[in-house]
Amino acid sequence: GVRVRIAPSPTGEPHVGTAYVALFNYLFAKKHGGEFILRIEDTDATRSTPEFEQKVLDALKWCGLKWSEGPDVGGPYGPYRQSDRKDLYKPFVDKIVANGHGFHCFCTPERLEEMRAAQRAAGKQPKYDGHCLNLSAEEVTTRIASGEPNVVRMKIPTEGSCKFVDGVYGPVEIPWDAVDMQVLLKADGMPTYHMANVVDDHLMKITHVARGEEWLASVPKHILIYQYLGLEPPVFMHLSLMRNADKSKLSKRKNPTSISYYSALGYLPEALMNFLGLFFIQIAEGEEILTIDELATQFDPENLSKAGAIFDIQKLDWVNGRWLREKLSEEDFQHRVLQWALENDRLREGLKLSQSRISKLGELPDLMGFLLKSDLHLDPAAFAKIKSTPEELLEILNTVQPDLEKILEWNVESVEAELRAIADRMGKKLKVVVAPLFVAVSGSSRSLPLFDSMAILGRAVVRQRLKLAAQ
Ligand code: ATP
Ligand code: GLU
Repeated sequence: GVRVRIAPSPTGEPHVGTAYVALFNYLFAKKHGGEFILRIEDTDATRSTPEFEQKVLDALKWCGLKWSEGPDVGGPYGPYRQSDRKDLYKPFVDKIVANGHGFHCFCTPERLEEMRAAQRAAGKQPKYDGHCLNLSAEEVTTRIASGEPNVVRMKIPTEGSCKFVDGVYGPVEIPWDAVDMQVLLKADGMPTYHMANVVDDHLMKITHVARGEEWLASVPKHILIYQYLGLEPPVFMHLSLMRNADKSKLSKRKNPTSISYYSALGYLPEALMNFLGLFFIQIAEGEEILTIDELATQFDPENLSKAGAIFDIQKLDWVNGRWLREKLSEEDFQHRVLQWALENDRLREGLKLSQSRISKLGELPDLMGFLLKSDLHLDPAAFAKIKSTPEELLEILNTVQPDLEKILEWNVESVEAELRAIADRMGKKLKVVVAPLFVAVSGSSRSLPLFDSMAILGRAVVRQRLKLAAQ
């Protein structure tokens, strides 16, 4: 039977792109009566965190996507987290080396950097130059025995091209010359994404790999690994990436991309899935409002466009509005509103901060309404009260925005620590840095404490508010 998977890397705020790819796989499984599986790809130990893993699971659950196997529910082919599967990969790498399809590489990071710099300077795409390709077996044994750090790379054919049929793109041909001698096993013994991904898709009996277009160029490596291991590759389907209205790749620098942003603003998960699902079906005007089950019935991968899915927020608003007005009963609507307000304890935390700051309850909407609002309608006059010059305000907003991305775990303490560090680096008093943030985040200069407010609002909403304020 059909077995598909979503394989997120827990390296950041869960991305709407992950929901888009997950939904495709979910619908594909449903259409074919197959299984939809979740696998955590955390081979990049420096960027993966347990918090982001939990967030990915929560975000996909919020979307209403259910998997039948995964790190939280188990299953017959577990564990479903690559860091828990470490020992599984080595025998596959050993087999590739033993059969002469892979080789140990002792090149230092410094040498590789020099090589790449020279290639770039010559206008070439950086690619491993084969320095360690032909070391003698004795030399390799001696150097490994002496404890010299090394990685395992795969060999790549020197001529011809890799031809395959992609389920979306149709026939694809990529010259081997364009394919790098990919590292399969890192110096610390961890497999790379490519190695772990192929081994796991095999061991988990995945029949169809549907993922973002950015992986299309990796297919030759993957097909080759399957061949080297004597295995049959799955069917590949590469989905065109979602784009901004100006056709550029959807990026958090232009549009909010994290799922939590859309849930915080009060989009319904059904509406977000409906909106994303419209990229996968052909539908007549007037019939766009569909549940996930209806999407599955209409779903046909043949209908995918390669042109790119435009993430049109106005259309999302329209779909969401119709869901609110037409698809929810009065009770359900009220229930959803309460659920939304209580989500992540926003209401409760806001009330905690407000109690000491009001003389009657009726002041609450003005005081803490910004915690729930989707749009602050910033008044330029609010900034005018701050002593810094407009240039300084802009400098602060633009410095803080990218720096907040560095915070790993988002909470009151980490936000405060980062803002203090930023103030130090800018050579400004904390008070000065905080003033414009206060207005940007809460819409007013008299409001709840900033660090707490930022913690409650979450990174994605704060990022968007700072961006809008800087415009
Ligand atoms: P940004 O450009 O905003 O920094 P990113 O490319 O760094 O985003 P990643 O964190 O690398 O985002 O991606 C997380 C997941 O989201 C990946 O699985 C990726 O395939 C998917 N993804 C990212 N951008 C898009 C997109 N434009 N369309 C579809 N999926 C995407
Ligand atoms: N971990 C990869 C990602 O997050 C998975 C790619 C794939 O599905 O093979 O994009």
